[in-house]
Amino acid sequence: MKKKIEKIRNLLMEHHDWFKHSIPLIASENITSPAVDEACSCDFSHRYAEGWSGQRVYAGCKYIDKVEDICMDLANEYFKSIHADVRPVSGVVANLTMYNAFTSDNNGKMCCMSIVRGGHISHGPRFAKSGREIFGTAGTTRGLNIEYLTFDNDEMNLDIDASAKIIREFKPELVLFGGSVFLFPHPVKELGDVAKEVGAKVGYDAAHVAGLIGSGYFQDPLREGADAMTMSTHKTLPGPQHGTLVSNREDLIETLRSCAFPALLSNHHLHNVAGLAIALAEMLEYGKEYHKNVIENAKALGQALHERGIKVLMEHKGFTESHQIVVDITDFEKIIGLGGDIEKLLEEANIILNRNLLPYDIAQGRHYQNPGGLRIGTSEITRLGMGKSEMEDIAEFIKKVLVEKKDPKKVKLEVAEFRKNFQEIKYCFQSVNKAYEYFEFY
Ligand SMILES: *Cc1c(COP(=O)(O)O)cnc(C)c1O
Repeated sequence: MKKKIEKIRNLLMEHHDWFKHSIPLIASENITSPAVDEACSCDFSHRYAEGWSGQRVYAGCKYIDKVEDICMDLANEYFKSIHADVRPVSGVVANLTMYNAFTSDNNGKMCCMSIVRGGHISHGPRFAKSGREIFGTAGTTRGLNIEYLTFDNDEMNLDIDASAKIIREFKPELVLFGGSVFLFPHPVKELGDVAKEVGAKVGYDAAHVAGLIGSGYFQDPLREGADAMTMSTHKTLPGPQHGTLVSNREDLIETLRSCAFPALLSNHHLHNVAGLAIALAEMLEYGKEYHKNVIENAKALGQALHERGIKVLMEHKGFTESHQIVVDITDFEKIIGLGGDIEKLLEEANIILNRNLLPYDIAQGRHYQNPGGLRIGTSEITRLGMGKSEMEDIAEFIKKVLVEKKDPKKVKLEVAEFRKNFQEIKYCFQSVNKAYEYFEFY
């Protein structure tokens, strides 16, 4: 047994060492500050607190309740909402809470983006239209019938007129915006009005863009007509892995609450609620500057790759308005391979990013295991203090591997050297005490 434990410990150390010497570009990831980490390792992780704060099913919750109250207040302040449920343990669970609240138990209907165009598996039906089995959360867990909104590949966004037609014909109960490939704000206002015409609720899945939205960038779904906004708390919002649902619909609060508990949750990972409270305080303090830089870095990285002959989608729109860019690597198919092959090759050079379906991949015969694209995110590298000139450096490393075909093992040494200057987490409380001072002030 001792051997096994030692092995686990060594693997963890190797993982940490690897990531400390890498360029982390996965768009759905971020890192937490020392203050968040400390909160997440508190005794709350051993406890239970079912129910709403102040009405728990368990004893021992008096401090837990206070922390959760502060966390909800901070979330309401950051997202300008009146209802913040910080109990969903992940983005998927927040989505399920929303599906529970807004759709029928039998034969419920939802319109959303298709997974191949950037929708998330949690939006997916039980069976895709092609007849291939896709076990998405909405279809398998909630039994929802799903009709996809129309996507305009050239604009990398929903096609308003064609989608409006689908909403009017299908008459869903819920129209869901948001996705995992998410470069430009969705037409929530325009299509939300159509949704309301047919009596549908409007949902917005902000898993990827929650931090951008909270800090005042990208778009403002709750003011554009969304009845509820769900999110993961660990993507552009750099908190612990958790979920949240916010809303401004006074009349829906009771339903939304009970659709999380008792409908879905027992334990809701109280330590992560504590960590989330700190992360929200950090973003209220530093988010404006941080997220501005995240978006600027994404645009700059798009430009830098483009200048090096790597095809980044949406040049005519400045590549992106979010934290992500999408790269079409099909030019490299004959020389290196497709997304899966390139992901592996870059990983050998300590450049961590992921392959991604391009909206036209399926039509051109490519599939998700080895698609034609890469998705690159700048949330984590920005948090490590990187700016525009480092975007040039990163584009250069990627070029060395893909265009110059240098040995990735050699590039890896350069990447590790480069990373030495970026070992601290920025835009956060540098000491744990500072976080607590903020709380006293609050
Ligand atoms: C990541 C993601 C989720 C799921 O988030 P988890 O917190 O991992 O459950 C949901 N929706 C979208 C659009 C996502 O990108």
